[in-house]
This record gives sequence, C-alpha cells and structure tokens, in this order.
Amino acid sequence: TAQSADILRLENVTKRFGSVTAIDDLSFTIRDGDIVGFIGPNGAGKSTTFDCVSGALAPTSGSVYYRGEDVTGRPQHALVRRGIARTYQTFRPLNDRTILENVALSQVPNSLFSLTDFRADTEERAREICERVGLEEYLSQTPDELPHAGLLRLEVGRALGTDPDLLLIDEPFAGLTSDEIDQTVKLFCSLREDGMTLVVIDHNMHGLLDLVDRVVVISFGEKIAQGTPEEIHNDPTVQEAYLGG
Ligand code: ADP
Ligand code: MG
Repeated sequence: TAQSADILRLENVTKRFGSVTAIDDLSFTIRDGDIVGFIGPNGAGKSTTFDCVSGALAPTSGSVYYRGEDVTGRPQHALVRRGIARTYQTFRPLNDRTILENVALSQVPNSLFSLTDFRADTEERAREICERVGLEEYLSQTPDELPHAGLLRLEVGRALGTDPDLLLIDEPFAGLTSDEIDQTVKLFCSLREDGMTLVVIDHNMHGLLDLVDRVVVISFGEKIAQGTPEEIHNDPTVQEAYLGG
C-alpha cells in the first residue's frame, strides 16, 4: 500500500526561532528501506529538520507523518518507541559510563541503573551492537578513550539500542579520514540490508552520492531539489545554488 511505501512524510513544515526561519514550508517523503542523503550548506536547516522529525522540537506549522500516522509534535521518547532514532552532530555519550554501558543504557530509556541491574539479554544485545558497529575492542573503556571515528560508532550504536526502523544520522562524515568514511558507508549499507531506513545528513555531496538511493537538497530552509543521485548531480538549480557557491 501507499502507506507502507513511505515511512516518513513532511508536509509544509516550517520552524521559526523568533525572527529566524530555520525551515520554510518543507515537504518531502522518505521511502521505506531507502538510504536518503539530506544535503545542504551549513545553516540550511538540516539539523532543525531532524529535530522536528525526532520530536526534539515541535514545528511552528506543518505536519510530520510516520508510517501514515500524524506524529507532529509528539515527544521524542514516544517517537523513539515508535522506531525513530537519531544521532547528533555533537556526540552525546554518557562520559562516566563504559562503552558497553552506553549502548546497554540506550535500550532502557531514562534509566539510572548500573550494568549489574540489567537483564542478561540487555547486556547480550549491547555486546551484539558493539560488535556490529566495530567497538568490540572498547567495551570496558570510557568514551574519552575512543578516537573520533569510535565516538561516531558509539553514537550509531546508542541509536541502534532503541531498535529503530528509521535512523536519522546527522553529519557522520565530518572529521573522518577517507578510509573511515568508507567503513562508515559500509556500516550504513549493512543496516539497510537489515531493513532499516536511513537519512544521512552531509553539508557537501561528495561521498554521499555514491551511497544513497535518493537525495533531498535544501538551502536556506527550503527544498531546492530531490531525486536520484544522478538527477541531483545534473540538476542546474543545485549546481547554481549549492555547488557553485
Ligand atoms: P544545518 O544543520 O543545516 O547546518 P541548522 O538546522 O542547525 O542548520 O540551523 C538552521 C538555521 O536555524 C540557522 O540559521 C541557525 O542559526 C538557526 N537555528 C538553529 N537552531 C536554533 C535555535 N535553537 N535558536 C535560534 N536559531 C537556531
Ligand atoms: Mg546541522
């Protein structure tokens, strides 16, 4: 059905901060099972869009539909339960917890428990996720002992702890070497193989175009193009407004 084909739909979403219009009448759909690149220059409104989809912020106007259901303005914890997870551009690990605890605690919202309080399957699942994202060597270390690429993997692992269907990833490639970008791309592709839908933000197009099924490009809060990577690459509006800039 049409409902199951689209996992996410934004209709005329606007978000204002006082006199600043961060996103302006933004509409797009994300198909279930795709990896989508969400691209635009710094300040274009990408992270604010994630905030409005994940429930961190309520839109000023417009609607967000998840699997056909209007979820506009629902709180983040409710949307996490529905299967929407996100990562942050500025990593948000629990600094006084081990890597394993970070991932285990992500499965237990608002928990203050220590690892010894977990059910065995929570810890087992955390170990699986750590292995999945390539952190198995760091289980008993703390986030400050991880390299930058490891912190990104932890951020993704913590999002996976909530068992998402839709994973929103904010600027994962910033600060990574090209080898680390390749490994990150492989990880994202393997998550899609498992049936997850991914929306990946980047402020430039390089790297992302090879990875994604579809692309949405925004500039100054407005959608300026959407389509396949090839269509976006050849789109004169994108070249003019974005690549040319
Ligand atoms: P991007 O992620 O594309 O770089 P953002 O969504 O972070 O862009 O920001 C879009 C615009 O909204 C920018 O002009 C930014 O300064 C503004 N903005 C974002 N968050 C806030 C906020 N909490 N208060 C005021 N302005 C904000
Ligand atoms: Mg941002």
